[in-house]
Amino acid sequence: MPSFDTLSAAQIAAGIAAGDFSATEVARAALDAIDARDDGTRAFLQVSEDLALAAAAQTDKAYAAGDTLPPLAGVPVAFKDNMNLLGTRTTCASRMLEPYQSAYTATCVQRLLDAGATPMGKLNMDEFAFGSTTDSSAFHPTNNPWDTARVPGGSSGGSAAAVAAGEVTIALGSDTGGSIRQPASLCGVVGMKPTYGAVSRYGVVAFGSSLDQVGPFGRRVEDVALAMNALTAGGHDRFDSTSQNCEQDYLAHLNDSIEGRAVGVIPALLEAEGLDAEVKAALQQAADRLADAGARIVEVDLPNMANSIAAYYVLAPCEAFSNLARFDGVRYGYQEPDCATLAEQSSLSRAHGFGAEAKRRQMLGAYLLSSGVYDKYYLAAQKVRTLITADYQRAFQQVDAILMPASPTVAWEHGAISDPAALYLADIYTISNNIAGNCGISVPVCLGEQSGLPVGAQLQGPAFADASLLTFARALERACQMEGTVAPSFAGKGGEL
Ligand code: GLN
Repeated sequence: MPSFDTLSAAQIAAGIAAGDFSATEVARAALDAIDARDDGTRAFLQVSEDLALAAAAQTDKAYAAGDTLPPLAGVPVAFKDNMNLLGTRTTCASRMLEPYQSAYTATCVQRLLDAGATPMGKLNMDEFAFGSTTDSSAFHPTNNPWDTARVPGGSSGGSAAAVAAGEVTIALGSDTGGSIRQPASLCGVVGMKPTYGAVSRYGVVAFGSSLDQVGPFGRRVEDVALAMNALTAGGHDRFDSTSQNCEQDYLAHLNDSIEGRAVGVIPALLEAEGLDAEVKAALQQAADRLADAGARIVEVDLPNMANSIAAYYVLAPCEAFSNLARFDGVRYGYQEPDCATLAEQSSLSRAHGFGAEAKRRQMLGAYLLSSGVYDKYYLAAQKVRTLITADYQRAFQQVDAILMPASPTVAWEHGAISDPAALYLADIYTISNNIAGNCGISVPVCLGEQSGLPVGAQLQGPAFADASLLTFARALERACQMEGTVAPSFAGKGGEL
């Protein structure tokens, strides 16, 4: 048998149900692939071998008993390390939480486990999800599987890299301002940020609570749709008051025609300064392919999108400052030893537990929320948020989805961009979607002609149109023929079934 990395999630589950191979064989193949490939990608922070083998044994027992197997039976999955999973640490790639043992399992993780998935471990990220390179992990950077000298994007870089290198079939990430879609684009995989509230945030360490959303990565739109089925199964989660009942079969309309449906494009966005020629060409190609598939391409405008970076980099740090106040050196994780007073313990634990970007965000948030400053920035940003949301509402009266880049560039070399402001500016195509609470997905379109690196296109849809968004993503995937691609230098390395 070939490596398990050639199989879709549905093929793995079907193969186990048909007795072609066991869940334990798949788990061992995935462990083997991680062993052979993770030295190159450094996507994992922890491999949960015991949990994986125990879950796989459970699936094999169900098979032996003649039970109907669940839809993700035996499918190797892994989780961004801001998601709690009992039996693992949840570090958020921070010294602050380095010793923190998950006290319970996050709903999103539990739902994949309930669907039969095999948990392979926890994935690297930018510290507390602040960033777009994964270089700010306190432990080590993660490498882009297409060129290990380059970043995988971030903050869910470990999730994107593990899927792109074929170490797992599906991974979960979180997206507050682009952290699923941007690394998916840079690593040549599919990454979806569902509508705000579609997936429960319970058990996911909070960054910006009004923006955070969990979503899946896969090498196929179908795998992502299958993961959405599992993530939304059971509907509203009573442990997350913002979660909505989005339970439905996301596969049902996946292969529907997009004939006659409208896709919006924003010409000015493709003329923006700093947009790589390869990304621009890929986006034009994506628009042509969608038109070939019968879509009507319609020009739309989101006039307030230009202010989205300014608004996000006020709102997100304010929310982060509030959320990260709980890491006080007393209740969770790192505790500075030998302190004379409680204040000193808290202060030094925070000084030594957080990295530079985490400190920058919190100091910014503290300042922006201080009296006298609050109105000028936080309140103004909330008003911009309302305007951006209204822009989208207008645009979605005309079109069913909007096409734009996920990232202005292909993957860059580690350390090539060190100015935080330059990194913030590169979030231009993703953050307005979080601000408005809509859904978005990045789909690989092609390899850049010059760079040979993958380029993704982003599709955005209105809130709660996740199933329709997946239909457009599938149409684009079908036309681009990148489906199932594993980064060439990792494909087939270990992992034989
Ligand atoms: N790059 C953005 C930031 O640094 C988005 C991060 C995210 O979505 N978690 O805040």
